[in-house]
Amino acid sequence: MDEGLKGYHLTAPIMTAPSRVFVPSVTEENGGAIGLGIFSTEEVAWKVLRRFLRKSHLMALTRSDLVIWEVDRIGEEGMTVLSTMHCRDCPVCKRRTFWMDLDSYSAMCTGQSCEAWIEESTINRGKIDLGWPPTRFLKQTETIEEAIAELNEIGAQLEAAGRTPESAFTSIPEE
Ligand SMILES: [Zn+2]
Repeated sequence: MDEGLKGYHLTAPIMTAPSRVFVPSVTEENGGAIGLGIFSTEEVAWKVLRRFLRKSHLMALTRSDLVIWEVDRIGEEGMTVLSTMHCRDCPVCKRRTFWMDLDSYSAMCTGQSCEAWIEESTINRGKIDLGWPPTRFLKQTETIEEAIAELNEIGAQLEAAGRTPESAFTSIPEE
């Protein structure tokens, strides 16, 4: 991938005729790719991809891609990978619903009633924010490994309390 193309979508002017299209897709564990459509705006492509990933606990998915294709351009040069996410077991709810973008240090569980997340801090550059919405848990760590360890800790507390992903998360046990 051409490093110079990264961030290209952020600075390009908005065009009326689609000279490029946004193509979200997911890959199944057996290697099969599922195309989710071809869209003229990045916003809609993200919306379609995110909505699809909400069902990912029902499928065996390994990754998702959002790719920009320049229209009428021949070959690989016409393609820019905007985002690649890998699906892992969620540290909190243990379902295979934890989508990680290793380039941007962000991750989000799409599992129902969980939605554990990790993001690079926008205020303290280089630090990592994490959270778990069911208990409004928020924390900041130095590294992504520490962030995942924090989420693992929440998962361990839930497990100790005998919770399963299917039961509603309302609170975590006190320390
Ligand atoms: Zn989860």
